[in-house]
Amino acid sequence: MASLFGHIAASTALGYAFFPKQTRPATLLLAGFCAFAPDLDVMGFHFGIPYGSEWGHRGWTHSIFFAMIFGGLLAWFGTGCFSRPDNPLSTDKSAVAKAAWLIMSTLSHPLLDMLTNGGRGCALWWPFSTERIFFPFRPIQVSPMSVGGFISEWGITVLASEAVWIGLPALCLVGIARFIRAVR
Ligand SMILES: [Zn+2]
Repeated sequence: MASLFGHIAASTALGYAFFPKQTRPATLLLAGFCAFAPDLDVMGFHFGIPYGSEWGHRGWTHSIFFAMIFGGLLAWFGTGCFSRPDNPLSTDKSAVAKAAWLIMSTLSHPLLDMLTNGGRGCALWWPFSTERIFFPFRPIQVSPMSVGGFISEWGITVLASEAVWIGLPALCLVGIARFIRAVR
């Protein structure tokens, strides 16, 4: 995993870069939750699900399929956008934007994990393939799975690595998007 901070930085940057009109506190929180939620699969360890299983850590919850279903459902229930009587999905741009943001936030999680230098790869193509994959370039220091492990030199190394490989690109993305909007 990347750390909670790294994942939330990504979802926040995606919002300010691509969906600036939707960046209200509640939606920022929802997007942050989406960016972190795939790692709730670590609870599987307590139920004896092995790391290498498709149902284990970095398995099915770290897939494009999961991101689309989870982000879409959370947009549906979490924002109430789709529950209006006139079913505005096809015309309400804000509903579509919120759903897109939450899906992208969820998907950003496995993509960041695939840039980390430890653990197993992610089952990005589940359920079509259970293969665990990484990107060829993996500069992000992998984060410990426990809070105790994070309060250590390892945690500081992780934050420094994420500041460079997640924080800076996130700031650049938001800056470039704002610049493009300003000159339009
Ligand atoms: Zn993860």
